[in-house]
Amino acid sequence: MTLTADIALESRDVAVDLVVETGETLALLGPNGAGKSTVLAALAGLLHPRGTVALDDRVLSDTGTRTWVAPHDRGIALLAQEARLFPHLDAGDNVAFGPRARGQSRTEAAATAARWLDEVGMTAHAHRRPHELSGGQQQRVAIARALATEPRVLLVDEPLSALDAEAAPEIRDLLRRVLAERTTVLVTHEVLDAALLADRVAVMDAGRVVDTGETTRVLSRPRSDFGARFAGLNLVRGVASDGALLMADGRLLHGLAESPVADGQPVAAVVAPSAVSIHLTHPHGSPRNSLDAVVTELEPHGHLVRVRTDLLSADVTPAAVAELRLHRGSAVVLAVKATEVHLHPSRPLSLA
Ligand code: ADP
Ligand code: MG
Repeated sequence: MTLTADIALESRDVAVDLVVETGETLALLGPNGAGKSTVLAALAGLLHPRGTVALDDRVLSDTGTRTWVAPHDRGIALLAQEARLFPHLDAGDNVAFGPRARGQSRTEAAATAARWLDEVGMTAHAHRRPHELSGGQQQRVAIARALATEPRVLLVDEPLSALDAEAAPEIRDLLRRVLAERTTVLVTHEVLDAALLADRVAVMDAGRVVDTGETTRVLSRPRSDFGARFAGLNLVRGVASDGALLMADGRLLHGLAESPVADGQPVAAVVAPSAVSIHLTHPHGSPRNSLDAVVTELEPHGHLVRVRTDLLSADVTPAAVAELRLHRGSAVVLAVKATEVHLHPSRPLSLA
């Protein structure tokens, strides 16, 4: 069931063009206010976007032909951040509600609900009401309730963000299981969710998709500034010059090109902070990039320290920070092997 959408909501300055292939999970990633929830609401029919939304060749909304399919007739289920269960119904009746509304008899709907409660590990709690369940348990019931309607497409908005840290990993694992083979759009700002749950990722920033592709590509070779920050990678922009990246200030970064780029074309270089080392003087005799930089920030990063500079971030040991006496404003030399610098053709800086 391929979901296609080419939509715009001028009032929120959101405009996207998305395709989700049958059985695939697309993660919509992006900072707060990027427009992720707005896109889901438009796909679900809770907002009226300009443009078209279609499931295979069934048009769900099209402002051109004035086509509009009501939310409950779309075959699309929306799973929100909060479980939002019916408070007066027990878990079983919450899950049976959708199947009942779709014409199943009371007995059939109860059997459907029992099957889905089992799937999410909530059989023992079938007769509890929402207020008798923990946040994680409520979210399990909400997942069962969404799936019991047998949606052709599942939309999931930040499903773990309302949960405490202990409950999140279990629900993430449950989602990994139930989302496999299901056509899904998953909104998240967590890189781990994208890494574990998504086949493809679309990175949104300020109402636009700024990068899209297979999850591994977007997380390892991001093409947007947000995507790089999100993936914890350095992204440097410039133009191609003799197989290297020439920065606006004249500095050169040597790397490996993913595909040939003509001199003068925009390129982006992606470098992992773990591949960058810090020195006080230029190391000599090695086939490395060594670049002057100024430390702008030092912050804890697991067992290491992430040293941000005006050029690249580097992850170094606390011992190295002490030995080099690093502080904000330190003048340093960054060294990185050319083989650790991945160059690829980039869009020009404006991402419109
Ligand atoms: P995200 O889910 O990525 O955090 P949203 O889709 O909620 O972002 O928001 C996108 C834009 O729409 C933001 O500029 C936000 O301020 C605006 N917005 C969100 N909700 C509403 C609303 N109910 N009415 C008007 N504007 C809204
Ligand atoms: Mg949101």
